[in-house]
Order: sequence, then C-alpha cells, then structure tokens
Amino acid sequence: MKGEIISVGTELLLGQIVNTNACYLSEKLANLGIDVYYTTTVGDNPSRLREVIALGWQRSDLVILTGGLGPTMDDLTRETLADFLGLELILDTSVLANLRCIFADRGREMTKNNIKQAYFPAGAQVLPNPNGTAAGMMLQREGRIVVLLPGPPFEMVPMFEKEVIPRLRSLLGKDQQVIKSRILKLYGIGESYLETVLQSLLENQGNPTLATLAKENEMHLRLTAKADLPQAAQELLAEMEGEIRRLVGKYIFAADDETMEEAVGKALLEKGKTISVAESCTGGLIGHRLTEVAGSSDYFRYGIVSYSNEAKQSLLGVEPQLISQYGAVSSQVAEAMAVGVRELGSTSLGLAVTGIAGPGGGSTDKPVGLVYVALATGGRTYVERNNLRGPRRVVKSRASQVALNFVRRYLQGYLEEIKEENG
Ligand code: ATP
Repeated sequence: MKGEIISVGTELLLGQIVNTNACYLSEKLANLGIDVYYTTTVGDNPSRLREVIALGWQRSDLVILTGGLGPTMDDLTRETLADFLGLELILDTSVLANLRCIFADRGREMTKNNIKQAYFPAGAQVLPNPNGTAAGMMLQREGRIVVLLPGPPFEMVPMFEKEVIPRLRSLLGKDQQVIKSRILKLYGIGESYLETVLQSLLENQGNPTLATLAKENEMHLRLTAKADLPQAAQELLAEMEGEIRRLVGKYIFAADDETMEEAVGKALLEKGKTISVAESCTGGLIGHRLTEVAGSSDYFRYGIVSYSNEAKQSLLGVEPQLISQYGAVSSQVAEAMAVGVRELGSTSLGLAVTGIAGPGGGSTDKPVGLVYVALATGGRTYVERNNLRGPRRVVKSRASQVALNFVRRYLQGYLEEIKEENG
C-alpha cells in the first residue's frame, strides 16, 4: 500500500509550528509496512488544498489529511474533500448530539458554526474524538482510502491509534508487511570516504535499503528493511549491519538512540575505568555531556573548566614555562592538563581539551578551530591535533565530540589504528 500525508494549515507554511503530525504519521505508517512516498503541507486555501488532494488521489492508495476540521471559516478540509469527490455533506445527528453534550458539560453555548463539525461526506465512517470537538472520518472509494484527522496532536494521536490503526490492519490483512530501520552512528570518517568504502553495498542495495546522512557532529547510516514479520526484518538488518561493521566497524560508536556520551560511559564501565576532565575551549561541555547519562557518577569524578592560563597553572599544575614557550593551545599544554586533572581526580583517565573556538584569536600557525585533545592513562599520554570547522558554537560542540570519541577509541583499542588511516 502506498500512503501519503497531507498536513493542512497556514501556520505550518509560515514556520510558526513544527509539523510533528507528519513525522508521527510517517513513522506509524512505516511500522504498518505502508510506504510513504509523499508528504505535502498546504495552507488553508481551498483551491490549493483541492490540488494536493487530487494529486494524492491519483498517486496513492491511502491519503491521510490532518488539520482544518475545526468550526471556523478557514477550516475547510471536509468541505474541500467532499467537493473533490462529488459527495454531499450529510448531517450526523449522533455527532451533533455529542457536540451539544460537550458544550453543555463546559457550561457554554454552542455557536452555529460548530454545527458544521457534524457534517460528513456521504459514506464516511465517523471517528470519535474524546479530546475535542472535531470528529475525524475514514472513507473508502474507488479502491482508495482517505482519512481526515484533527490538527492538534493530542487529538490526532489517540484517534489514529484507537480508530485508524485497527481499521488499516484489517484492510491490509495478510498483505501486511513491517518496515524496520536501524541507524548506525559513525565519527571520524568523512562522507565521501564512507561512500567509497560502502560503494558496493550502496550500489547493490535492495532490501534493506541503505542511506548515508551527514549530521552536524557525526555520520549516520540508515538501514531499512521490509518483511512479512518483525523478526525477518530484524534478521535482514542484522545481516547488513554485520557487513558494514566488517568494513567500518571502528568508526561506529553507537546505534539508534544511543549518544556518544552514553557509548563512552558504557565503554568506561566495561573496562572498569574512571575519568576526570580538564576543559578550556569547550567550557564544561564535555563534563555536561558525560553527566547527561544516568549513572555517570560510577565513572565521572572531576570536571575543571580551566579557561585562563592562571587556572591551568594553579588548578592543574601546568608549568608557566610550558605556556610561555608553546602557548596555551599546544600539544604540550594539552598533555600537561590531562596529566594534571588525572592526578587531581585520582582517576584512571584524565581527558583535556585546549583550542581556539573563534571567531577571533586565530593566527596562521594556530587558526580558529585548532583543538588539541589529550588523554592521560597513567602510562602513556596520547595527544591529537584537530582542525575543526564552523562558527564558535559548532567548534565547541565538535571539540566535545572529538574528545569523547578519543576516549572511546582508546578504550576500544582504535586510537593508533584510526590515527594512521587519517594520516
Ligand atoms: P481544531 O479542532 O482545534 O480547530 P483543526 O483540525 O481545525 O483543529 P487546525 O486548526 O488546523 O486543526 O490546527 C489546530 C492546532 O493544531 C494548530 O494551531 C497547531 O497547534 C496544531 N497542529 C495542526 N497541524 C499540526 C501539525 N501538522 N503538526 C503539529 N501540530 C499541528
């Protein structure tokens, strides 16, 4: 079954509200095994609404519209649909009685314009709305299904779950398929390199499908499989994931909803390690991210924001001579900060970051975005130089990601290997 979502509302076009309904419905339809090829947003304008309904009718088996079922003049979805299908709007007396009850319960008088909410195109099944005045409807015609749902998510979601999903399931019968997705999250690998390594998988994809998505701080690979049963879809995903992990496994830090900080926390717990952090240009962001994870007190001990040279010296014991000779943004100072904070926190690991977040403060030798990350481990102290791009907020955020990934690479044994590959 091919599905299509039409979101109605001028507010959506003006960017005043986010289209969470389309997002919710897309996910739910995918879970039912219904392919969503189009989602359209249209304002409260009858001729343009009619145009998109006509297009949906022509290319999809299921068209779901949300919004525009209210009592006011700009709520035109039911009228436009009935007009397009050439159907008369018929009064549903039980819906009208229910509307009168709602207003009586609220102690308010029902105005005349509310009556239009009790009219439905001939042949429609009414979908009750326990959370508002706009009842929904479902109509089957010419081998197609059209569903109208109210705009407010707290009305639309319960109606979809209680009234629409069971009806769609029974219509789909044994043709029903499931669509499952898995997201693999990678760091330290560029999009073009990733595409080259996965070229054969990308070119020969069928089921599952595979897509690369570049996010601000990481790369995502989205695998999507379709099958008759959830278990079969999961098996298809697992097989492709296995192949991807063989090719680029060392760059994969997490999957699905897991974040970098959660992955680092898990790796620290697995290895029985504790960590302290000394931050300059990230201003506490790394400490914040590590402590976003519930249970982080089991491994996170100390976080120092040593922004000034004085703080680096007095709190972390960085030699003044190191700063004057190499500068605060240098591998030597990063190393000394990591050693200092490790000792201060009495932890297995000490992580340090020093860099230039910009927009000012850069030079030819040390441009904006230059960030040193150091990890003191008791034995060796590892340091890496990074050149990060972007405005101040992005450099800070990327520096925190690079630093957390540095810890993950160390704990998983990929520190040297990845460094060599990246040159
Ligand atoms: P009502 O019965 O409240 O009049 P309606 O079906 O006429 O509902 P709209 O008037 O189009 O719906 O929208 C009402 C409110 O619902 C909007 O102001 C907005 O807060 C929310 N809403 C509408 N469409 C969406 C959407 N696609 N995503 C998220 N919220 C939405």
